Amino acid sequence: MSQHTAPNGRSSVEIDWGNLGFGYRETDFMFVAKCGLDGEWDQGEIRPLRHLQLSPAACILHYGQGLIEGLKAYRSKEEHILLFRPEENAKRMIAGADRLCMPAMPAHHFVEAVKQTVLANKRWIPPPGKGSLYIRPLLMGSGAVLPPAPPPEYTFVVYVAPVSNYFKGGLTPIHLIVETTCHRAMPGGIGAIKTAGNYASVMKTQLNAKKNGFSDVIYLDVVEKKYIEETSSSNIFLVKANKLATPELTGTILPGITRKSVIELARIKGYQVEERPVSVDEVRVADEVFCTGTAVVIVPVGSISIRGEMVRYANEGVGKVCQELYTALTEIQTGKAMDNMTWTMEI
Ligand code: PMP
Repeated sequence: MSQHTAPNGRSSVEIDWGNLGFGYRETDFMFVAKCGLDGEWDQGEIRPLRHLQLSPAACILHYGQGLIEGLKAYRSKEEHILLFRPEENAKRMIAGADRLCMPAMPAHHFVEAVKQTVLANKRWIPPPGKGSLYIRPLLMGSGAVLPPAPPPEYTFVVYVAPVSNYFKGGLTPIHLIVETTCHRAMPGGIGAIKTAGNYASVMKTQLNAKKNGFSDVIYLDVVEKKYIEETSSSNIFLVKANKLATPELTGTILPGITRKSVIELARIKGYQVEERPVSVDEVRVADEVFCTGTAVVIVPVGSISIRGEMVRYANEGVGKVCQELYTALTEIQTGKAMDNMTWTMEI
């Protein structure tokens, strides 16, 4: 149980849970830890949610030395609070910290900070079936620097926001367009880490796609401009007969935790799953396509526009494999099904 009392002393929140949406909303508490020149993280603490104070010369502001994570806490019917594979987020942040020359937050400390933040904001976790508490850990170079170099101070923050299920009325297909001009990542670059700049660089393509009636874009590899990589914030799978294919992790796409979980679940269910280069030509002949990510979980792709040609899947509905994997995964995440994989962590 959390020993933190909400600012107004109430243990519940007055929210129309049915109209939650998927945006930022202030909650009660955040977790903050600091690391100085010795490279050791202090224990950190839960504090009332306030603006952070930063020097105008903070490294993150000028040189983008920052990493984010995203995971969710669900409230089960039995009122248990469940996290989904938080150690995987911790590991991904450690890999990112190495790439950006930042002191990594040890995995056990990361998970403890996540737990404390969720418990302190317990009243913001939506009731079962109404959504989840989105958890956003952030690691940044907060110290002041003039030329680009690792700064003398780092800050680790965790905040949370209640969010609705991405799709209220069950699975709703999205429509994608293959992006042929802009690229998200290059070999040897930073595409495989969850760094802030990767999201700044996709806003233009994403907004353009939306203006033209698409939900998001699919990026192509920068070398041959022939292999699909991922969307702005989710991984992608193709289904052909009983086989699934997803782009392999070669350093230019984010190693999604939902992706990893879906691969494991699909194999258990008897599907053959291939992680390999997936050419845009295969997209033209797939039976089903779906995307995976923490926010969307698993979302069917109704159509993909490829250089002016529109390819439709599963009659622009929900494919059988997508539906099967969505049900299996969400039942584990929300505590409805036995978690034989020990993926959920009750806190
Ligand atoms: N790719 C990108 C670029 C993302 O931002 C995300 C969301 N974190 C994903 C894939 C999916 O990753 P995950 O399943 O861990 O949320």
